[in-house]
Amino acid sequence: MQYVSTRGHAAAQTFSHILLGGLAPDGGLYLPAEYPQVSDAELTHWRTLSYADLAFEVLKKFATDIPEADLKALAHKTYTADVYRNVRAGENAAQITPLRVLEEKNGKKIVLQALSNGPTLAFKDMAMQLLGNLFEYTLAKDNAELNIFGATSGDTGSAAEYAMRGKKGVRVFMLSPYKKMSAFQTAQMFSLQDPNIFNIAVKGVFDDCQDMVKAVSNDHAFKAAKKIGTVNSINWARVVAQVVYYFRGYLSATTSNDQKVSFTVPSGNFGNICAGHIARMMGLPIDKLVAATNENDVLDEFFRTGVYRVRPSSETYHTSSPSMDISKASNFERFIYDLTGRDSKRLSALFHLVETKGGFDLSGKPGSDGDEFHKIAEYGFCSGKSTHDDRLATIRDVQKNYGITVDTHTADGIKVAREYLTPDVTMIVLETALPAKFNETIREALGRDAERPAGFENIEALPQKFEVMDADVAQVKAYIAAHTE
Ligand SMILES: *Cc1c(COP(=O)(O)O)cnc(C)c1O
Repeated sequence: MQYVSTRGHAAAQTFSHILLGGLAPDGGLYLPAEYPQVSDAELTHWRTLSYADLAFEVLKKFATDIPEADLKALAHKTYTADVYRNVRAGENAAQITPLRVLEEKNGKKIVLQALSNGPTLAFKDMAMQLLGNLFEYTLAKDNAELNIFGATSGDTGSAAEYAMRGKKGVRVFMLSPYKKMSAFQTAQMFSLQDPNIFNIAVKGVFDDCQDMVKAVSNDHAFKAAKKIGTVNSINWARVVAQVVYYFRGYLSATTSNDQKVSFTVPSGNFGNICAGHIARMMGLPIDKLVAATNENDVLDEFFRTGVYRVRPSSETYHTSSPSMDISKASNFERFIYDLTGRDSKRLSALFHLVETKGGFDLSGKPGSDGDEFHKIAEYGFCSGKSTHDDRLATIRDVQKNYGITVDTHTADGIKVAREYLTPDVTMIVLETALPAKFNETIREALGRDAERPAGFENIEALPQKFEVMDADVAQVKAYIAAHTE
C-alpha cells in the first residue's frame, strides 16, 4: 500500500515512512493511493472477532510494510480491557467500545458507542494508545529517538502523554496555556512523573503555544538536529486506528450485512468523522455520516451550503464543548480530495483560496468556486449544530429519561442525531468523552458533580511536575536542547 499527497507533488510513501511525520513535503495530507475494500465474506467473518483482532484485520490492509505477526502483537498490546477499563455500570470493558441503546421510539433507535473508556477519558486514546506502541516499535527497529513537541488546550496533550509515558526512544514536550485548562485536565497531565514527559505551562493563551510550535517547526535545522516530531490530528495512523471502531460499531449494532447504520460524530478537526468516511469508502454499509458541531460551525455551514469559510480567532468561540472549538478543520482536505474526484490540481487551487480568501464556495451558485456540493449526498454526509443551551437541555433530558450522564460533546452529538433519525436505520452516536472531564457544565446542567471512574477521585491532590515559561521560542528551544542530551 502506497500513500500519496492530496496536493500531488510528493513522492508516494509507505505506511512506516509517514507514521512519524506530519504534512507531506508539498504541504498536502497523505491518503492511500486507493482505499482497500472489505468483502461481504470478510465482514461476516469480522463479526466473530475481538476488538484487537478486528483492529489487526483493518490495520493490515493499511500498514502493509509491517510484518503481520508484529502488527497483531501491537493490536493485542493496545486494545485490552485493562487499558480501556474506565467503564460505567453495565458496560463490559472487554468490548473496548461497548454499545448501549439510548432510546427507541417509533422504530427509530439511538445507540451510544463508548470511545472514552481509555486512560484520559476521551476518544483520542483510541488512536493515541496505538500510536504510542507503533512509535516504540518503529524506533526500536532503527535504534532511533523521537521528541514529540506539541501544544494542547486539554484532550490531545494528555492523550499523547498517557500513550507515550515510559516508551523507549520517545520524549514528549507539551505546551499548555498556564492556568487555562480545567483543574481535572491540568491534574491529569501534570501529575505524570515519568522522566520522558515534559509539561511546559506557557504564560499566555493556547494560540501563543500553537505559535511557538509553528516557529519551532519552521526551524528545519533545529527540528532535524533534535528529532522533533508531532502527533497532531492529521497523523495518518491516528485516522486508521479510528476506522476500526466504525467497523466495530456497525458489526455490534447489526446482525446481517444488508443492514445499514448511520453515525453521528461530535466534530472539530474532522479527524474522527474522516475515519468514518474512509470506513464507508472501504465498503462498510453506512447510510449517513452526521457531523455535529457546537457554536463553532465551520463544518455545519459547509455541509448545509457548500461554503467552507475558515474563521478568524475573533470568531472562534470558547464553548462548553471546548474540544470542538476550531476555526478550521485540519483533516477536511482529505475529504475534499475525494469530493473533487482525487484531482490534486483542483484540490491545490481550492486550498490556495483558503490561504488567500479564507475559504471556498462549492455551492454551484453564480460566482462560486465550483459545484461539487451536489455530490455531497453520495458520500452520506450531513450536519447540524448545537449551542450551550441545547447542551444543557440534552444533558438534563438524557439524565432524566435514561439515567445516563453524558459529556458536553456527546450531548452535541445526541442533539444533532435526533434531527436525522429514520426508521430501521440505527443511529450510532459516538461518545467522545466521559462527563467527569467537563464537570463544570455537568454541575450547571444537573446541579451535582459528574461521577468519576475509580482511581480519579483525588487526582487534583496528586503532586504535579511542570515548568512555567514565558511565550518565548528561544527559551523553549533551550529547554528542549537541555533535556535531549
Ligand atoms: C478531539 C475531540 C473531538 C473532536 O474530534 P475531531 O477528530 O477533532 O473532529 C470531539 N470530542 C472530544 C471529547 C474530543 O476530545
